[in-house]
Amino acid sequence: CGIVGYVGPRPSQDILLAGLARLEYRGYDSAGIAVIDENGALGMRKKAGKLAVLRDSLADAALADGTTGIGHTRWATHGGPTDVNAHPHLADDGRLAVIHNGIIENFAALRAELAAEGVTFLSETDTEVAAALLGREYRASGDLRTAFRTVVNRLEGAFTLLAVHQDEPGLVVGARRNSPLVIGLGEGENFLGSDVAAFVEHTRSALAIGQDQIVAITPSEVTVTDFEGNAVEAQPFEVSWDA
Ligand code: GLU
Repeated sequence: CGIVGYVGPRPSQDILLAGLARLEYRGYDSAGIAVIDENGALGMRKKAGKLAVLRDSLADAALADGTTGIGHTRWATHGGPTDVNAHPHLADDGRLAVIHNGIIENFAALRAELAAEGVTFLSETDTEVAAALLGREYRASGDLRTAFRTVVNRLEGAFTLLAVHQDEPGLVVGARRNSPLVIGLGEGENFLGSDVAAFVEHTRSALAIGQDQIVAITPSEVTVTDFEGNAVEAQPFEVSWDA
């Protein structure tokens, strides 16, 4: 239901949690984050319940912090509100993480395709199917941008999808179809959010992402393309409201 992504020089965990707190007003039943740490390992924590449950869990047993991360609040559509069904969902042996808002309409067919190849699933979500597909495509191409583009072209329905891979630290990829996603432009850091509330305390300089577009953010660069990979011009805007 709520999505935030960060890449830059700062520890990402608190930025992600604060962004998710600003998206709480939308309602949710679970929350989670994934962070690529200093050693290039992906850490993930997710919990059913309020953001406070996730915060407490992180306070009890911290994740190694890192400067690339994604965070999610879930409003369950496929599978009940449990820890396992919460996002992020992992693939490629825990090296990549995916978060998703919306509904992947063709998840059952994709799940059957992947199951036939020997993929096993932990959750009941449509989202884990997208994660598993991205894992397969990452192993095929070894490139997150390429794999992600292949995946979004296989998905039907409504999605805001974000992904990170530990072998490509400093990169968050995202896409949107029938579901919102905006870019927040910082100084040496960049943000993604399902709405501007996710990053408004850090920057008011934003870029709108159009329907059926893909974005890749690094600390210094933002690229937006269509689903075929053609560069598109994103519309800049200033966030003017008081958040
Ligand atoms: N369909 C996904 C799920 O049930 C995402 C729900 C959401 O938008 O939070 O896990």
